[in-house]
Amino acid sequence: NDLNVNDYLKSHIRTVPDWPAPGVQFRDITPLLQDPRVFRVLIDAFVHRYMHPALRPDVVAGLDARGFILGSVVAYELGLGFVPIRKKGKLPFTTVEETYELEYGSATVELHTDAVKPGQRVLLIDDLIATGGTMMAGKKLLEKLGATVIEGAAIVDLPELGGSERIQATGLKLFTLVSFE
Ligand code: AMP
Repeated sequence: NDLNVNDYLKSHIRTVPDWPAPGVQFRDITPLLQDPRVFRVLIDAFVHRYMHPALRPDVVAGLDARGFILGSVVAYELGLGFVPIRKKGKLPFTTVEETYELEYGSATVELHTDAVKPGQRVLLIDDLIATGGTMMAGKKLLEKLGATVIEGAAIVDLPELGGSERIQATGLKLFTLVSFE
């Protein structure tokens, strides 16, 4: 049939209303991972984009925690290494850290100081862009170490929350597969 890849992927995202808090529509990507055919279509959508010579990164960075699942498989398929950007307090070696504002309170993410080298071209991956805060914090960490983030990538964009616009306003290009109004 004529179902395109983006619609096919979107049809496998589960929306859970009022989780983890009233009013939140949680976009659950676990059904995409669970079905082997869908999982392959999902990963290949990223791999085909970043295997192109003009977009090929030197290393893939993933954001805690669903960005680890996607990012590590994409890195492996591209023949690249993977580096995790973790919530504070999990990485054992010396780190750089970045704190950003949430709706209530703040969050801090960390990256090992030897995770990337100055001048390296990094692809930054997460599952979803909401306010954009997480991805922008990841970009700042990588830039603190002298790396260049060539593109941010995610499965889902929630454009109404303004994150994708905010991210692109920093000069970072963004690639997403599915969007929910
Ligand atoms: P933000 O920093 O606001 O862009 O939030 C993005 C991060 O929070 C990602 O790591 C997502 O996994 C998670 N997240 C935020 N909102 C949602 C949502 N509605 N459904 C699923 N995950 C979400």
